Amino acid sequence: MAKTYKEIMAEARKSVPEWSVDQVKAQLDNGGGHSLIDVREKEEFREGHLRGALSLPRGFLEMRVEEAIPDKNTAVIAYCAGGTRSLLAARNLRELGYSNVVSMTGGYTAWKNAGLPFEQDRQFSTEQLTRYSRHFMLPEVGEAGQAKLLDAKVLCVGAGGLGSPTAFYLAAAGVGTIGLVDHDTVDLSNLQRQILHTNDRIGMPKIESARQTLTALNPDVRIVGYQERLSSDNIMRIIADQDYDVIVDGCDNFPTRYLVNDACVLTGKPNVHGSIFQFEGQAAVFYPHRGPCYRCLFPEPPPPGAAPSCAEAGVLGVLPGLIGCVQALETLKVILDIGKPLIGRMMYFDTLSMEVRIHKLRRDPNCPICSDKATIKELIDYEEFCGLRGGHQEDQSAQATA
Ligand SMILES: [Zn+2]
Repeated sequence: MAKTYKEIMAEARKSVPEWSVDQVKAQLDNGGGHSLIDVREKEEFREGHLRGALSLPRGFLEMRVEEAIPDKNTAVIAYCAGGTRSLLAARNLRELGYSNVVSMTGGYTAWKNAGLPFEQDRQFSTEQLTRYSRHFMLPEVGEAGQAKLLDAKVLCVGAGGLGSPTAFYLAAAGVGTIGLVDHDTVDLSNLQRQILHTNDRIGMPKIESARQTLTALNPDVRIVGYQERLSSDNIMRIIADQDYDVIVDGCDNFPTRYLVNDACVLTGKPNVHGSIFQFEGQAAVFYPHRGPCYRCLFPEPPPPGAAPSCAEAGVLGVLPGLIGCVQALETLKVILDIGKPLIGRMMYFDTLSMEVRIHKLRRDPNCPICSDKATIKELIDYEEFCGLRGGHQEDQSAQATA
């Protein structure tokens, strides 16, 4: 004969110790190394939960607990709203081999009624819950990760070929503040690859065109535009303006690349690098003091004219899309602190052979800016450094963006 509810509960009580809220409080205050799991539904968790609790709704418990708590000897405290669901959840955990599980009597209701401290995660609007639902399903992102993205501030250098896909996907993902530096206006020749811009916006400042596209995609995102030519004179002010967390370099010339590198090292900001040439592209994350910087790899710029830009050498339309997407991806990983960003590694992509290579990169112990022996302590004149001051090279120093 099937068991009654009462019988099931009585059996569970025999196998699972129950702790009062005071016992749980004392244990948590002692820092007793317990894993605290909240087995209520997501909506209940969102309204408030114990500090440090892991949200594992009962429907997903068996599926997710082994990943969340791999060591089955871990002491686990389970709680729900009133103490019933957690008792049954604790019994299930014991069946899965967790030997040391207790259930909190009275659950979150008793905890709150006792006046004990609780936490409330970021409150998302109904629209946000739907918009970011695919992120919420990923345990590595979840609501906490989405809150980080919404709070994040990313500066994109250039709203061109690389900056377009980067900013597009960052906005879609809900990166809350996106700064864009670009002094240029939309030109017909940009539209073969710069997907933020449209035919009817030719002549419009790229910053304005980008703002229209990005806010139409996601009104959560705040776009901060800097319609100016990035230089030693303004980069520090721009980075400080919103205290950006990550700088994404989508520029197409060496003076700006060294400028962005040096400013990132001097301010300690991660620099998500991308560059393209005809059919090939590369991407890396230069994270000050966690890995090499651009100067560790290339202490000196190439001679003027040796490395032509897109405007001079051409670029396959899709290529900046690929590299810009890698930059957007790496930016999300850095913000979320997940996976293995391209720190100390450079990805090379050859579109014609479809070969992707990853090269390990080393810090240069004599790097002029990021080593102990650094000689560069402030920004320099990058046009001069790259040999572009005056004469026929002047055009090349124009800051076209990829
Ligand atoms: Zn360096």
